[in-house]
Amino acid sequence: MSNLPLAVELAGLFGLSEQGLKLNPIGNGHINTTMLLRDKEQALVVQKLNTDVFPDPEQLVNNARLIEKHLSEKAENALYSLEIIKHLPTTQGEFLADINGEKWRALEFIGGSFSEEVVKSAEQAEIAASAFGQFAAALQDFDAKQLFPVIPNFHNLAMRVELFKDKVAKDVVSRVATAQNEIAFCFDQFGLADELANLRNVPLRPCHNDTKINNMLFCTETEVAKAVIDLDTCMPGYWLCDFGDMVRTCCSPEAEDSTNLENVKVREDIFHALVKGYAKPLAPFITNDELQSFWLGAKVLPFMIGLRFLTDYLDGDNYFSTKYAEHNLVRVRNQFALYQDVCRQESVLKSMLEAI
Ligand code: ATP
Ligand code: MG
Ligand code: MG
Repeated sequence: MSNLPLAVELAGLFGLSEQGLKLNPIGNGHINTTMLLRDKEQALVVQKLNTDVFPDPEQLVNNARLIEKHLSEKAENALYSLEIIKHLPTTQGEFLADINGEKWRALEFIGGSFSEEVVKSAEQAEIAASAFGQFAAALQDFDAKQLFPVIPNFHNLAMRVELFKDKVAKDVVSRVATAQNEIAFCFDQFGLADELANLRNVPLRPCHNDTKINNMLFCTETEVAKAVIDLDTCMPGYWLCDFGDMVRTCCSPEAEDSTNLENVKVREDIFHALVKGYAKPLAPFITNDELQSFWLGAKVLPFMIGLRFLTDYLDGDNYFSTKYAEHNLVRVRNQFALYQDVCRQESVLKSMLEAI
């Protein structure tokens, strides 16, 4: 076992010099530990992968490198213009390194960029959605079956429902009584799982599966999109889920754990910007059925993540990190309020999809 300081160990692995060596946290990721490693000459991003969430980090890196290769070929043919997050090998030519049993990788640092935690304007939402749209369009001819399911059934609502019912039945931490209203609400919404399972004419695609605003980088100088990042959950899925997750994370003016439920709602201008931004790069490939299925995505994603927060609450907060006892329940109420507002605004939001 090594007891070298981490920075020195990482520098040795990835070929940086010890002169002027610095290791600092970067960004605001919730899953992995992400840092910037610098010597006098170069800077790279190093990431300790969360092996509780991703038990098979080799497959995760392999998935990301397959995508990286495909996007690089597109870029060579001028069919993809965003920057590509490339993995950097160790001096031994490996793309995953072991330090005291923990798994580390290095990525090219995209300088001159910034990430946002909260959407500031409709313009910004459109830029982000367009970046995820360009990413999806460039992958439309990538065989999604090549991707290993790093988290099986990630967006399988029927499976999430079964897991939830099991936790309600077991009530391991005696929280069912406190969440009765939310549980009853859930039981009334399970038709959504059937709607998703019965989708027709909507193809499985290589999806990003974590299309939050902080998973893309903006150019510091021009504020245009610079790169789509965080390919950890890229797996086969439906574009409706990537769209729905943008709606979930961009449309409400409140954070997902805000208790100001009055203000948890879908901002129409942001929704419209997302539709425009995402659909435009997909236009040559998307069918009308697939585009209309985005409505289901807008409903499913806030509901599904709310259901997952509730499941975790009933299970004793094992999956999502929580800062206080009722944190998951607060998130449940927030996400269900958003879901209800999506449903409430059905006609106006749907008309935006129909107008494309
Ligand atoms: P999440 O909570 O979204 O799952 P994560 O823990 O998987 O996040 P990343 O999204 O990969 O971590 O990285 C966290 C943050 O670090 C990003 O939001 C971004 O600000 C910054 N970052 C990551 N990779 C790069 C890069 N190659 N160049 C510049 N900044 C980066
Ligand atoms: Mg991220
Ligand atoms: Mg991530």
